[in-house]
Amino acid sequence: MLSSQVPQSPSCRAHKFGGSSLADAGRIRHVASLMLGAEESRQVVVVSAMQGTTNALIAMTNAAAAGEDWQSAWSSLRTQHADAASALLDAPIALHAWIDARFGDIADLLRAVSLLRQPGRAALDRIQGMGEVLSAMLLQAHLRARGADYALLDARDVLLVRHAELGAVVDWDESARRLAAWRAANPQARVVATGFVASGEDGLPTVLGRNGSDFSGAIFAALFDAAELHIWSDVDGVLSADPRLVPEAVSLGSMSYREACELAYFGAKVIHPQTMTPAIARGLPILMRNTFKPEFPGTRIDADGDGGHGGPVKGLTLDPGLALVSLEGAGLIGVPGTAERVFAALHAARISVVMISQGSSEHSICSVVRERDAEAARRALLDAFSRELDGGQVQGVQVVPGISVLAAVGDGMAGKPGVA
Ligand code: ASP
Ligand code: MG
Repeated sequence: MLSSQVPQSPSCRAHKFGGSSLADAGRIRHVASLMLGAEESRQVVVVSAMQGTTNALIAMTNAAAAGEDWQSAWSSLRTQHADAASALLDAPIALHAWIDARFGDIADLLRAVSLLRQPGRAALDRIQGMGEVLSAMLLQAHLRARGADYALLDARDVLLVRHAELGAVVDWDESARRLAAWRAANPQARVVATGFVASGEDGLPTVLGRNGSDFSGAIFAALFDAAELHIWSDVDGVLSADPRLVPEAVSLGSMSYREACELAYFGAKVIHPQTMTPAIARGLPILMRNTFKPEFPGTRIDADGDGGHGGPVKGLTLDPGLALVSLEGAGLIGVPGTAERVFAALHAARISVVMISQGSSEHSICSVVRERDAEAARRALLDAFSRELDGGQVQGVQVVPGISVLAAVGDGMAGKPGVA
């Protein structure tokens, strides 16, 4: 069944590799071998930074802003990239010069941050995105050294985004236009592209948010009109439960977009739902694969999932660290608009609600929030309902900490009696 899931030689595939798949020269070499061995005629390979690089770049920026030493971390990161270049190329001189120039740019920016004593958005975005610029160059240079003609796409040159409350929003028309112009000059069938980075509305470099490379993978899969998106990490696809809690957890062969979004919502290590929107919009299958076990098929996520053949429950997730906040009052019964006021108060306090329930008696409204938000939620509700509390229509706001949500996820559960 699994082998028949992968279409033969699709015209174009997009691949995205996470930081752990690119942690050192040996792993970059392995990724290159995987990509050289892939049979698709067109290919776009989207990369994260080498493992730990983004964190290191952010830490350096914060250190510079605090007037502390950033030079030692900068110098070890430079050495790490230079060493990888030496290991990946027989003639690394030009690549070393390029890497030195990039680290020179980073040092210039860090000096500016240190003088200004603040990590401005523009400087931080420029610095934290450098990891992907470096890793993409290392991989492309190595692929070329092995005789393959790969173009190098710096996403900051084509991908235009605007930041909104729910994250980065892609300007598809403009990005497609810029990509077409870039393709005219770079017509190679195979491309290595930087994940995570983009260009903002002000024309300055920006980033898609932490762990944004999966989103980059889906965006470039869409822009390159790929038939599939393969997301490579260090696990066997999507597991049926957290293996640290459930040793019997198994990798799921297939699942639907809906199931994947729900599992991700409840904290399973899937992909961020936002990541999937460009793929879902095009019905593009996403294959979650293990870089270190390429023969393993991983998990295929698409519109149909397994079509209901895999049983009603796909996976279990446990989301700990939550609290139950409930507003109780006999005076709430039959009063319209109470729920809206609860959510408005929590929204104003910028508290995200994980789950809600209201009994049909309408005597209480319960919200599940992150434990760290529980006290603020309690205060927000006491504030919003102070008149009703004074008047006795509302009896109080109760907080129960130490809550976990155990979620069973599966499209097949809907309308099927007896699953609970
Ligand atoms: N390197 C970026 C980060 O660590 C993006 C990514 O890896 O997805 O957040
Ligand atoms: Mg990552």
